[in-house]
Amino acid sequence: MLFGATGDLANRKLYPSLYRLYKKGKITERFAVVGVARRQLSNEEFQNSVKESILTYIGENVEIDEFISHFYYHSHDVTDAASYRELKTLAEGLDTTYNLDGNRLFYMAMAPEFFGTIAESLKSEGLTDTDGYKRLVIEKPFGHNFESAQELNRRIRTAFAEDEIYRIDHYLGKEMVQNIEVIRFANALFEPLWNNRYISNIQVTSSETLGVEERGRYYEKSGALRDMVQNHMLQMVALLAMEPPIRLNTDEIRSEKVRVLRSFRTMKVEDVKDYFVRGQYDNGMVDGVEVPAYRNEQMVAPDSNTETYVAGKLMIDNFRWAGVPFYIRTGKRMAAKSTKIVVQFKDIPMNLYYNTKETLNPNLLVIHIQPEEGVTLHLNAKKSGQSMTTTPVRLNFSNKSVDRMNTPEAYEKLLYDSMRGDATNFTHWDEVALSWKFVDTISEAWENAKEESFPNYASGSMGPQSSEDLLQKDGHTWWPIEEFDVDNC
Ligand code: NAP
Repeated sequence: MLFGATGDLANRKLYPSLYRLYKKGKITERFAVVGVARRQLSNEEFQNSVKESILTYIGENVEIDEFISHFYYHSHDVTDAASYRELKTLAEGLDTTYNLDGNRLFYMAMAPEFFGTIAESLKSEGLTDTDGYKRLVIEKPFGHNFESAQELNRRIRTAFAEDEIYRIDHYLGKEMVQNIEVIRFANALFEPLWNNRYISNIQVTSSETLGVEERGRYYEKSGALRDMVQNHMLQMVALLAMEPPIRLNTDEIRSEKVRVLRSFRTMKVEDVKDYFVRGQYDNGMVDGVEVPAYRNEQMVAPDSNTETYVAGKLMIDNFRWAGVPFYIRTGKRMAAKSTKIVVQFKDIPMNLYYNTKETLNPNLLVIHIQPEEGVTLHLNAKKSGQSMTTTPVRLNFSNKSVDRMNTPEAYEKLLYDSMRGDATNFTHWDEVALSWKFVDTISEAWENAKEESFPNYASGSMGPQSSEDLLQKDGHTWWPIEEFDVDNC
């Protein structure tokens, strides 16, 4: 049951992902999709709109008529209790028609203010009374701060147990994010070095070239901190920093991630400025096109204090990571669209090549999350020729050249996992709670103090000067990720 069936997420991501799963045989004929939204549509009109979205985003329609015949539409206002009873009757009929054993997946692809109401109504109107499994898939954002997240959690927990709740963080569905675990735990090479004796610092960058587009109303209340840091960025740090789990199952991985989140050095509000900086984009040029400042975007206040960029330093106070900064940065309207992790190893104890003109570059392990997917190892090698001089070389693995065609979309994986009951790549309440508590201190500092320097970075740049200064204080510098593309290696 898909709540928000006529929305952007359903059309762009969910229908194409379901279709791919169907084509791969991961969904059998025993399924039905009930689309729920307010507008009046017949089943046929709904099926045609699903077909259109698949044609638009996948560009093919093999077996499509059979696929869309499993789609049904229910016009329904989620605030109207009576309508849930009709939905229940429809669901029971489909249970019989398709032999579904009463298994139900409720996907909330709607504005978050409805999440609590829907869950409570599903329970009170009996939709969760079923002989099969019942699962709730819930989109971000999960609350606005710790308090609101706790209240939302309380409401959905009235209808679903924690292990029936699948909180989406679509970064966790990405191939290379899942690959962090494999790189670390399936290679003898890295894990012995994966600690404060050999690693100097880790940098996680997630940059977008897009601005706020038509999401100004939402973004004004959210900003980059809540939109990106609380969930995706902290999740990536947790995966990079966690201890090897004793088994690769949901509970063990989650408990290791939770231990990382618990080890983050907490800040007092007055210390936030030493660890985190914020930015807001000015006008500028992106891909050769003049673009406006954030404050001139639709539905944005002309004196907005909302950050469109965040950079920060996270310290993980445990034996493995004491003293190693994890730098994160994310922003809109930056020079490149890219998500990359750079692990910088410490310099070797002495440079035997000091008498050459070359300085030795530190070894780097670069994990490319998007748009390319791959891994690059930066080493020093001998420059060919007579002299003993060094030259930097890059060993590169790119998914594109191997199995790009088969790389599933994040939503495809997450939908499949939720159907199979594998919650590993979804966030547990404990993770959400700890992330919000960490981020709330930063929000408090920033909400209390207007940032007089806004706007402080040009569209098309890599962010404000304060972000460079943050690393320079520690003797580090951001690696130019835009030059690290797999294709340039
Ligand atoms: P959207 O395009 O605004 O769609 C909202 C959907 O909710 C529409 O189908 C709308 O249909 C329905 N709806 C609104 N009020 C309703 C009501 N009272 N009763 C029943 N249905 C109602 O939103 P979206 O962009 O798809 O986003 C949905 C969720 O996914 C949000 O939580 C968002 O944060 C999250 N998300 C979206 C994206 C994305 O790429 N779009 C990415 C990540 C996360 P009617 O108007 O016909 O009722």
